[in-house]
Amino acid sequence: MYQIKINGIVQGVGFRPFIYKLATEQKLTGFVLNSTSGVLIEAEGNKNSLDKFIYRIKNELPPAAKINEFQFEEFPDKRYDTFEIRMSSRSKGSTLISPDLAVCDDCINEFNDHDDLRFQYAFINCTNCGPRYSIIEDTPYDRPVTSMKSFVMCDYCEGEYKDPLNRRFHAQPVACPQCGPQLQFLDKDLSPILGNPIENTIRDLKDGKIIGIKGIGGFHIACDATNYNAVELLRQRKNRPHKPFAVMCNEANISDIVIINYEHLKLLKSPAAPIVILPKRSNSEGLNREIKIAENVAPQNPNIGIFLPYAPHHYQFVTEELPFVIMTSGNNSNEPIARTENELQELCDCFLTHNRPILNRSDDSIILPAKEQNILIRRSRGFVPSPIKLPSQTVPTLGCGAELKLTFSLSRKNDLFISPYIGNSGSKETMDFYLETYEKYLKWFKLKPELIACDLQPDFATTRFAENTKLPLVKVQHHHAHISAIMAEHKLDEKVIGISYDGTGYGTDAAIWGGEIFIADHTNFERLFHLNYMPLPGGDAAITHPIRIAYAYSIAAGANTELVNGISELERNVIQKQLQNSFNVFQTSSMGRLFDCISAMLGLFPTITFEAQSAMALEFLCGNVSVSDSEPYSFEISEDIIDIRPIIIEVSKDIQKGVDHKVISQKFHKTIIDFTLASVQKTSVVSGLNKVVLSGGVMQNRILLNGLIETLTRNNFTVYTPRNLSPNDGSISVGQVMIANRIIGS
Ligand code: ZN
Ligand code: ZN
Ligand code: FE
Repeated sequence: MYQIKINGIVQGVGFRPFIYKLATEQKLTGFVLNSTSGVLIEAEGNKNSLDKFIYRIKNELPPAAKINEFQFEEFPDKRYDTFEIRMSSRSKGSTLISPDLAVCDDCINEFNDHDDLRFQYAFINCTNCGPRYSIIEDTPYDRPVTSMKSFVMCDYCEGEYKDPLNRRFHAQPVACPQCGPQLQFLDKDLSPILGNPIENTIRDLKDGKIIGIKGIGGFHIACDATNYNAVELLRQRKNRPHKPFAVMCNEANISDIVIINYEHLKLLKSPAAPIVILPKRSNSEGLNREIKIAENVAPQNPNIGIFLPYAPHHYQFVTEELPFVIMTSGNNSNEPIARTENELQELCDCFLTHNRPILNRSDDSIILPAKEQNILIRRSRGFVPSPIKLPSQTVPTLGCGAELKLTFSLSRKNDLFISPYIGNSGSKETMDFYLETYEKYLKWFKLKPELIACDLQPDFATTRFAENTKLPLVKVQHHHAHISAIMAEHKLDEKVIGISYDGTGYGTDAAIWGGEIFIADHTNFERLFHLNYMPLPGGDAAITHPIRIAYAYSIAAGANTELVNGISELERNVIQKQLQNSFNVFQTSSMGRLFDCISAMLGLFPTITFEAQSAMALEFLCGNVSVSDSEPYSFEISEDIIDIRPIIIEVSKDIQKGVDHKVISQKFHKTIIDFTLASVQKTSVVSGLNKVVLSGGVMQNRILLNGLIETLTRNNFTVYTPRNLSPNDGSISVGQVMIANRIIGS
């Protein structure tokens, strides 16, 4: 008899019917059982069949299942007569919760089949697909502890639910039009509107209205992406003048608007169904029809975020008559994604909603494909709450995160549970969402942190939260956390050269860091090089007014300030005085600010309306090229400082000479790659280290990321980049957990 213990994503994904089917096919007897510590199997039969059984478990897994641990032992036979699926036992342990999964092809086929009971039923699902994380109340995952508990299964559904060979065996959200949730259409005042909710939705979207649409992990706000006025109205209401919106469309229509390859399509069609950022198609040559996305969907941006329908009702309104629909996160600015209509009444004309509560919210995940890798810009729906494996054991630790793109992370041994994307911690609503999710994670994963880590920055809400817990506290330098997180992702546990190019992070000297080259491991870091300190007048106020950065940096560099355009006389005077008196001037080595400076010098965005807008514009200006042949600007590296002032002076001269701004941007990118290589080489000489870890928000710049990977690799460095974790502050909590553990946990 083989006793097999399996851990991973093995519940709610059709795992037990899969085991049952294999066991019967291999003519084995015994049982399979779900427990809180994973799946337990006992199987008897001839040795050959047993080995084949094990081989097939590992090689024929259901699409959404994932095995993290697989153990088996041999015992004397117990002489089972049959193979059966036994009911859940509620013992202590560690089973994982599956992320929400996009509706599968089998279900969509039934959904489109006139003769099927669930024809056009908006809540069709099976063990391979459907909501999981968003509907769960407690573990182990079972219908009475989900938001489906109030829907009593009809005989038909129950029959499928109880049939081990059915695709819906123990699919907890199983439902049909007779017994399950229903769509409903509401007007602005939340009064129900008669008629077919989907027809109403399509009609109103086509009329240019803004509709709140209840989905899996929260609400979207939708409008017709081909209707300029509707998009403009949405921008006004959301107070979001420029930030790109994501567009949902069907597979058949994707290539009408973006350039896509097979790998991108695979990403879009994966069970996480993320938003994938793809290059816009520049012309409509070869298309059968003239449908254009409105210019203001992603203004002044060569890319657009695309995703496929992932809930069944998405397929009902994203249709040939309405092929491109903006589906942006349903939230008020600085608040988390909404789960009820009344939170969005100010923003929406009407609502497509339903009566299955959203218990746990998660925003759509976002992936940015970059040459040979993908950058996970936002790890949320479809990924949470699957853990990542840490390189070593930990004591239960909470990493609180930073401030922007907030997540927290909780560790249990070498599993790390990262929260969904919470948002920016500025508002009470966001911190409420943070705390609510934190409490749930503790309950589900049976965790009790013994150690807590937060950012060095004293003013963050997360820092105050950490200080109030009275647990042993480690304050972690922001960029050390950036590097440690990506080391953890690659299971690196040694000293490496860490490059953190970032916007803002509190330094050990109270300056604002962000252009840092470290030697680091999970315990310590040594700051080998950094960009020289430049003056940031007014701190955060300058960040939204890059032109002020351009002006202050030009003064500090001794460049011609007359060339800085788009800044008022008043602003000039104020900044001059601030610099003279060092009043409210922060010192910063931030790479993000250097991008802001150069971008504003080129007149791109004197002020910005969303984070990194000016830095992105500078990247886009480069075009889709390698900058390896560009001529770099001058820079100086002395002691521990990379002096960027010569760059600013030479950019200023190029502007005066009338050099094409595209060329200036290319030269600028090439300069960063060159001085990074030079600093890394110097670091390698003194340390003998060869592994280089890249992290920080600026690594979302693909010209820079690709250029650094290429150049460093060509110079015989081994480069590690963020893949399953984000380069931005979404991963800070991961590094915090690692570092805190090494410092006082073990
Ligand atoms: Zn399905
Ligand atoms: Zn039913
Ligand atoms: Fe950061």
